[in-house]
Amino acid sequence: MQSQTRKTGSAKANQFKESVIREMSRLAAQHKAVNLAQGLPDFAAPLELKEAAIKAILDDVNQYAITWGDRPFREAIAAKTKNYLGLTIDPEKNITVTCGATEAMVAGMLALVDPDEEVIVFEPFYENYGPDAILSGAKPRYVKLNAPNWDFDEDELRQAFNSKTRAIIVNTPHNPTGKVFKKEELEFIAGLCQKHGVLCFTDEIYEHILYDDAKHIAMASIPGMEDLTVTINSLSKTYSVTGWRVGWAIAHEDLTLPIRKVHDFLTVGSPAPLQRAGAAAVNLPQKFYSDMHEEYAIRRKVMLEILDESGIPYYKPEGAYYVFCDVNKFGYKDDLAITKHLVREVGVAVVPGSSFFRKSETEEARHFIRFCFSRKMETLETARERLKKLAPFKA
Ligand code: PLP
Repeated sequence: MQSQTRKTGSAKANQFKESVIREMSRLAAQHKAVNLAQGLPDFAAPLELKEAAIKAILDDVNQYAITWGDRPFREAIAAKTKNYLGLTIDPEKNITVTCGATEAMVAGMLALVDPDEEVIVFEPFYENYGPDAILSGAKPRYVKLNAPNWDFDEDELRQAFNSKTRAIIVNTPHNPTGKVFKKEELEFIAGLCQKHGVLCFTDEIYEHILYDDAKHIAMASIPGMEDLTVTINSLSKTYSVTGWRVGWAIAHEDLTLPIRKVHDFLTVGSPAPLQRAGAAAVNLPQKFYSDMHEEYAIRRKVMLEILDESGIPYYKPEGAYYVFCDVNKFGYKDDLAITKHLVREVGVAVVPGSSFFRKSETEEARHFIRFCFSRKMETLETARERLKKLAPFKA
């Protein structure tokens, strides 16, 4: 066996680890735990979407779509973007349909960022952004979001911008904290982007999942940002179809051209019949969004009640479908220890908070776990029963 000397991963691949979030789903299955880890709904997708997908397959929409997306789908995205975000975009010039927001982000970075340039990432962050930067050869530079409100220090952000900065990633509503960036915060970031000629990749995949009076503001709607923003979105969360792998990037045509080229050679295209269904999704009437708003408000209420009953302190989310919790007081060695206890002994899978921080060994990163509550009521109720077992471990 010569495996000791055989080269395996590339230098880039060796720089990041396997996704902890996806690993937690595998552990949940192994221990028959209630899976409140990965960000995926366990309830049905809207019937209109499923019917449209079935019809497309029966109609033999089985071959490659246009690489940057089926025209009716791009038209529907443009109309919805105008309606919801107030942005005027040309489906021919500004939209690239991708395999989920995941591909939109990595294709965007590969297309627009050069090796040795820097990309600013707010920490805690959705775990894909670090590897995305590394794959594009760029160096991620982290700026902290500070508990309890997860706001950033303006001076720290100002200092992070330098002559090597090519882009900043903004995710609003934010995974894992549930923060919804305020207009003044976006304006501050926009001011720095314009001053330094820096691009902003905004991941707005949770744009419709908002609580109380939180309002989603698109970075591209901030004056001066239209041409500097790559707006990333997807069917995954709004329409509960994370497995369909349909997303999109909206950008100025000068940015869209390189994104389309990279996208073409990465994946050729997103699944053609599901793009047909995508048009049906983004054409859904207002009632769909207001019903969803109400349903998520109930799910959040139940999740927070469960956490209150179990004595788990949390940061109340303003958007998205996660609750970030500070479990330091339980006295476990770190977030991994409590996560393992939860999945094995309590039967509830969550994500250890350190997967949202760059150095999992830092003190702060060890305090948190993340619950996902995009679940059926009965799933949440089973979690409620099981989490009662955590009580004896309370500090
Ligand atoms: N962006 C954020 C912030 C997410 O939380 C997720 C999934 O959890 C994704 C992107 C992945 O999106 P998609 O399924 O469209 O690739």
